[in-house]
Amino acid sequence: MKKLQLVELYDTLKGRYGFLDWWPGETRLEIFIGAILTQNTSWSNVEKAIANLKAAGALDLHRLAHMRRGKLEALIRPSGFYRQKAERLASILRHIEDDYGSLETFLDMDGQALRSRLLEMKGIGSETADSIVLYAADKPSFVIDAYTKRIMHRVYGTREDIAYGDLQNLIVQRIPKKVRLYKDFHAQFVEHAKLHCRKAPSCKGCPVRTFCGYNG
Ligand code: SF4
Repeated sequence: MKKLQLVELYDTLKGRYGFLDWWPGETRLEIFIGAILTQNTSWSNVEKAIANLKAAGALDLHRLAHMRRGKLEALIRPSGFYRQKAERLASILRHIEDDYGSLETFLDMDGQALRSRLLEMKGIGSETADSIVLYAADKPSFVIDAYTKRIMHRVYGTREDIAYGDLQNLIVQRIPKKVRLYKDFHAQFVEHAKLHCRKAPSCKGCPVRTFCGYNG
């Protein structure tokens, strides 16, 4: 496996794509909901669902938690799996309201405790939990996704099927623990996977090519 020069990778990607200022969302609730709705769908579909919620004046913890199920399903329908997502979203928001009173109180707890609490909730896995901790709560929790695994595998030879936590540890041990960096590095991975390091990679003109180990 090549030496993991992750600061070099980040600097190279940022040099090409610029600072990406993630995650899209005007409020913590919007970011929180987006992180749940984006499971198994594209972001453009999430945007449509969030636009529906905004237009209905429903971006409110209490309203969403107690909304008639059929109405919530209709509003988030563009995000796919809308019945399952509506049930889980309402259940998660009710838990937060009942146990913490507000999303702010919930998100303001210690980052590790918040992550653990999220992982106990049905429908929230590691990627969603880390997205919420990092982008909604502004606490350092590095997000791993399929794009991160793909790029790390090709550039540095990490295992393609590496476990979430193993890759997360590899990365966080090699970069400064800074929220802004964690946020932007994940955004850079996503951008790079969309523009160059696709399933079938487009290596011509790739900014990482000089040190990428891919020889497919
Ligand atoms: S050189 Fe090719 S495989 Fe390597 S990061 Fe760039 S697009 Fe991906």
